[in-house]
Amino acid sequence: MEGSIEPQEFKVLRKAGTERAGTGEYNDTKTEGVYECRACGHELFRSDQKFDSHCGWPSFFAPLAEDNVQYIKDRSFGIVRTEVRCANCGSHMGHVFDGEGYDTPTDLRYCINSVSMKLRPAE
Ligand SMILES: [Zn+2]
Repeated sequence: MEGSIEPQEFKVLRKAGTERAGTGEYNDTKTEGVYECRACGHELFRSDQKFDSHCGWPSFFAPLAEDNVQYIKDRSFGIVRTEVRCANCGSHMGHVFDGEGYDTPTDLRYCINSVSMKLRPAE
């Protein structure tokens, strides 16, 4: 699932500011609503953009709107990844991966930390 990442790098990558796989509050959440930035309340993802990636983190195939998130090239650990941040306050959300073969409309996986978000349930 993690492509060419070696086990040791995986450990480093995931321990550097990422919650442990499968432990996040919203990992398996199906509640309808909008996921907001935990820091500033900016709307980031909708529950109907969330899918079961089985990667251990909440995963979305698209953001609520492209303008709501910010993309930063992350070249740490000798590999290139794309970091996802809140476009309003710049808080770290997670990373986006593409071409993994998930059966979603975009073939993108926004792999987001539960601790970075807050779910506002639909009425
Ligand atoms: Zn924010």
